Amino acid sequence: MSVKSSIGDTSVNLLLDYEDIPIWTPVETGKFSVSSAWKLLRQKRNTSQFEAKIWYKDIPYKMSFTTWRAIHNRLSTDDKILKFGIGIYTNCNCCVDTRMVPALETTEHLFYNGSFAQNIWQVFTEVRHQIQKQHLEKLAV
Ligand SMILES: [Zn+2]
Repeated sequence: MSVKSSIGDTSVNLLLDYEDIPIWTPVETGKFSVSSAWKLLRQKRNTSQFEAKIWYKDIPYKMSFTTWRAIHNRLSTDDKILKFGIGIYTNCNCCVDTRMVPALETTEHLFYNGSFAQNIWQVFTEVRHQIQKQHLEKLAV
């Protein structure tokens, strides 16, 4: 059976008193929306627990995006600018007020090795130890 004969054999009930209207079948309402089309096209992927905490609805988008860029080493730090061959005087701002020699500004330096980051990590570590100590004291009672 050819396609042409198949179409010819198909009966169509025409309603001459009604105008044709488009019906978007993926939704019950029959009305097209970009969001319904997006739901059809997108491929959901499993997100890790870490990503779920970064891309959380109550966190401002710019904070989530900056965190994502830092994790994937995509921040525009001085080391990246130097790779483009742009001559800049690199001098990490977090090291300026310390006795340390200012380091090259990198993502790792800003969030891990730098003096400012080290101070923040130290505060968090102390708070964590205090919470653990209080928890252990409660268990001992
Ligand atoms: Zn620094």
